[in-house]
Amino acid sequence: MTVNLCGYNGCRKERRHAGPHDPHPSQAWAFLRDVDRNKITKAGFATPRGGQKGAYQNHVLRSNTVIVPYEHLKAVPLDDFQNGYVIRLFPEQYFKKAGKVKKAFKKSGAPVVGEDAFILYRTHSQFDELPPLADWQLRWLEMDGERVSKRKPGAVDYGEYVLRIAARGSKPRRVEGPPQGIFAPEYANAEANYMAKCVLAWLTVHTVDGPYVAAQAAWLAAILQDEGLLDINEWARLGLIRAGHTACPLCMGLIRYEELHNQVEFDDENSLLNASEQVFDATRSTVVNLFHLDPLVYSKIEHGPRNVAWGHATCNTKLGQRKCYSLHELIEDGTKVGAVDDDGNVQTFGWSSSNLEMIRSPRGAVWIRVSEDRLTEEEQGDLFDLLNEGL
Ligand SMILES: [Zn+2]
Ligand SMILES: [Zn+2]
Repeated sequence: MTVNLCGYNGCRKERRHAGPHDPHPSQAWAFLRDVDRNKITKAGFATPRGGQKGAYQNHVLRSNTVIVPYEHLKAVPLDDFQNGYVIRLFPEQYFKKAGKVKKAFKKSGAPVVGEDAFILYRTHSQFDELPPLADWQLRWLEMDGERVSKRKPGAVDYGEYVLRIAARGSKPRRVEGPPQGIFAPEYANAEANYMAKCVLAWLTVHTVDGPYVAAQAAWLAAILQDEGLLDINEWARLGLIRAGHTACPLCMGLIRYEELHNQVEFDDENSLLNASEQVFDATRSTVVNLFHLDPLVYSKIEHGPRNVAWGHATCNTKLGQRKCYSLHELIEDGTKVGAVDDDGNVQTFGWSSSNLEMIRSPRGAVWIRVSEDRLTEEEQGDLFDLLNEGL
């Protein structure tokens, strides 16, 4: 059964549909159970690390205004943020001393506090030692000349600074001024965000022992096909699917439907606690989560249909901020690795990425480099002498 799309002005509803046109109809996966639709909706949200402390918005679409930390300003693709950005400055970055602004901010082209930048106070001592200038005001939002409490399309920011100050001694916690935007690496425009959801919905249908049949996903498949995204061979090469089922791109394990919703076991959870990447406001993680093949970074917009998968939370944690090379990519890369025995015979056991970050065996085992070379040549020599003495 093939579904034809309307196509009018990019409309992705089914041909001869009722109602208004829509390039991003979420009805395409309306046949999914509530829990599955919720998981896909969440994957479209920015989920900031340390959310409120950084004045980040939570539970909003990835296509919102982003916060660009001043220290990342040069690396960030500013023009790609279709809903704008605001630059975050800490008081130490902006002030030379109390009441005195650094020279860099007087040059033309520099961020202007109150226009494209705001100051974030995180501690009482910051606020006491480098206080806001006399004519500054707390940030607020206005819509049609009226103050509003929530950021929405068309709302305009005013003011210069925001407080996200933790309590200290007798001094209370102060949270003043509205959230300013989302975490920049999680940004995606509405189109990329929608297509990524389509991929995740399709992968949900193809989990092992799921309650769905492929025929239900005909509309979804037509949307993916139309964008050239429904390429089973390519998904298999990237490790998103294996043997026709959804798979974890890191460990290549097939993903069972219930793992999308089951909580991780306590043993596994302990390993997640060590991770820097914590799911905001989630008490416990599900076994399987949104997984990015290329890590989200400041320098590039990475969230999109060609970079998402369902993967194990524990695998996500082990991978950290590294690219997940698939077995196919490593074989193509062509660097075989092996062990040398005492007679000098080499037993190859896998393929390595050219940057030596990841090794995979043809049957699925994965090795990841967890730290970089640190010793100088001299230190290395000393270490070898020491080791030889022991032999
Ligand atoms: Zn239409
Ligand atoms: Zn895995």
